[in-house]
Amino acid sequence: MRYPKQKIPVGVLGATGAVGQRLAQLLANHPWFELARPMASESSRSKTYGSATDWAQGAPPDERTAQLRVEACKPSPGIELVFSALDPSVAGPIETEFAAAGGLVISNARNHRMDPNVPLIVPEVNPDHLALAAGQEFETGRILTNPNCSSIGLVLALAPLLPLGIRRVAVVSMQALSGAGRLAFREDELSDNLIPHIGGEEEKLEREPLKIFGTCTQRGIASARFAISAQCNRVAVTDGHTLCVSIDFEGEVQTQDLISHWSRFKAPDFVRHLPSAPDPPIHVLDDVDGPQPKHHRDLGRGMAIAIGRPRPCNVLAHKFVTLSHNTIRGAAGGSILLAELALARGLHPHLSVPQ
Ligand code: NAP
Repeated sequence: MRYPKQKIPVGVLGATGAVGQRLAQLLANHPWFELARPMASESSRSKTYGSATDWAQGAPPDERTAQLRVEACKPSPGIELVFSALDPSVAGPIETEFAAAGGLVISNARNHRMDPNVPLIVPEVNPDHLALAAGQEFETGRILTNPNCSSIGLVLALAPLLPLGIRRVAVVSMQALSGAGRLAFREDELSDNLIPHIGGEEEKLEREPLKIFGTCTQRGIASARFAISAQCNRVAVTDGHTLCVSIDFEGEVQTQDLISHWSRFKAPDFVRHLPSAPDPPIHVLDDVDGPQPKHHRDLGRGMAIAIGRPRPCNVLAHKFVTLSHNTIRGAAGGSILLAELALARGLHPHLSVPQ
């Protein structure tokens, strides 16, 4: 693949938050995109990006980025691609305003994910769902969405198993602190503790994969028809969401079948060659005690998932553990990969993969 001579200037909505910081880090070395406009709330405005942000996950990626001014979340000429890492209390109308002004919005927020004409995409799994965006009311602008940070790990683990006829899935998550945003917890709340409730998360984990695995029809997405039951927990891990999954199939399936389907799984070529695509997207581990967040969340530069401990289950047919990096694969990195896919497929008339 050839890269642009000149990088495309992009904006980040919610640039000062946990996902916004990750976006800045990943954009700093991106071959196609360059962060030109960090945007956030009134309290961050007019400060330099370096000083408005706590950089809890590291430091500003470079001096140029640190010296950018944080601006209001308003469309501006010259910025046609924006990543949204906004708090869901404000994301919906701001993203709509950018798309109405002609921008391509790639969102990490939940607000538009289940809208009938808004694609919810994991590029390796359902790139064909981009076609849904043609039904959006905007002239040239479009909104595309990235799934919830736990849904992405579950979807990548289940996608290779679809041909085996999935019937039911039960999933228990152990989700990292960074998944709750930058200001979510006081330190003492999660020392020697676990919180067995994450508002709205179980519903997302039960619904989003069914839209992603659905079929794109003339009348929108016909959702996949198997059942998912989710229980979500917040644990004292910095980054990386772990899921314990039990699964049942329509017919008889051996544990070895799961392993060989995961090991053979590949994205379509036009996705596999995008700059942020991990190859392979799934690492199947032999370790008796893996995957573990500290040791496996950075596989494939944080874009691949790890799967371990596949074994028979006494209630459903099989069980296994999967892990994905929540702010990279589950948010910032996943949304950058989605933007690459959109450009490569010519979704926006003014944005293309430059020669
Ligand atoms: P966060 O750390 O709380 O950051 C929220 C961002 O929204 C900050 O930049 C904040 O700016 C901005 N903001 C808040 N109110 C605003 C307003 N009235 N006007 C303009 N900007 C405003 O949250 P996060 O964890 O990064 O999550 C961002 C989004 O991604 C959320 O929708 C979340 O659900 C989703 N998500 C998060 C993860 C994850 O692992 N954390 C994964 C997938 C998806 P100020 O600093 O100026 O207040």
